[in-house]
Amino acid sequence: MDRPRGRFAPTPTGPLHLGNARTALLAWLSARAAGGAVVMRVEDADLLRTRPGMEDRILDELAWLGLDWDEGPDRGGPHGPYRQSERAPRYQAALDRLREAGLAYPCFCSRAEIAAASQAPHAGDDGPRYPGSCRDLSAAEVREREVRRRPAWRLRVEPGPVPFADAVHGPSAHDVAAEVGDFVVLRADGVPAYQLAVVVDDVEMGITEVVRGDDLLPSTSRQLLLYRALGAPPPRFAHVPLVVGPDGERLAKRHAALSLGQLREGGADPRAVVGLLAALSGLAPEGVDRSPAELLPGFRLDRLPRAPAVLRPGAVERLLSP
Ligand code: GLU
Repeated sequence: MDRPRGRFAPTPTGPLHLGNARTALLAWLSARAAGGAVVMRVEDADLLRTRPGMEDRILDELAWLGLDWDEGPDRGGPHGPYRQSERAPRYQAALDRLREAGLAYPCFCSRAEIAAASQAPHAGDDGPRYPGSCRDLSAAEVREREVRRRPAWRLRVEPGPVPFADAVHGPSAHDVAAEVGDFVVLRADGVPAYQLAVVVDDVEMGITEVVRGDDLLPSTSRQLLLYRALGAPPPRFAHVPLVVGPDGERLAKRHAALSLGQLREGGADPRAVVGLLAALSGLAPEGVDRSPAELLPGFRLDRLPRAPAVLRPGAVERLLSP
């Protein structure tokens, strides 16, 4: 069998927090424990949301933790470019294939409606189900509308659940047609939707396993429809539970004290940070320093608890005290 290939896919819109770092650690452990390669891909397709300097900072902080990767924007590789902002022709080519197969159609609905129904990859951000208003426009109607507005492109979705086996959560399925409807694959402003970009990239970069936060579990069925439409075999999916703060809320940018950069600047030892991430994942007892490599022996993603990992009060402060 070919060597397994995993990946990190950070979005350079904000600094990494402990939750992102834990996901990256688990993706690294999963790939490396199987003797696999790790690919770094920067998900900056939406340049308006990208923050200058954030890519360098994210790569630097992951390296500080002791993670490494074989291919990426900083080191090149045979499957580049490794920044989504440099891959637009590839997304366009995939869209052209979908169009030629009659699987994608132009949608002229208002910007607000498209924004609501399409873009953000995270659960709960998907807005209302798209009612299919532009699904059956005639060629003449399309020509007439094209004069006035550039269309978004949607994937034609057939009814019924789209099941898959998640390595952490077990059997999973979403009924895309009922929940989301025909979803946007290319926005009217030419920016690929997360769903299309992530699938095109994972296919072209030969990714065999996707380890990511379980906030993205609901988008996996959509992505499976794209794998099917593009005739590509899907990877193995593993959705790891999020880390929640002491307040029970999912870690977010507002938990500023938990950013990796602040821990680093505050003098935290990266081995202590990895030790905390390992303890949060049931991989090591609390309060023990570890390097990523020390966590490799016997690592099994399918043994990861399915419940959210709770960051106890004081856990971060302990990293900062001498
Ligand atoms: N770029 C996405 C994020 O940072 C992750 C996408 C993925 O892993 O599929 O949330």
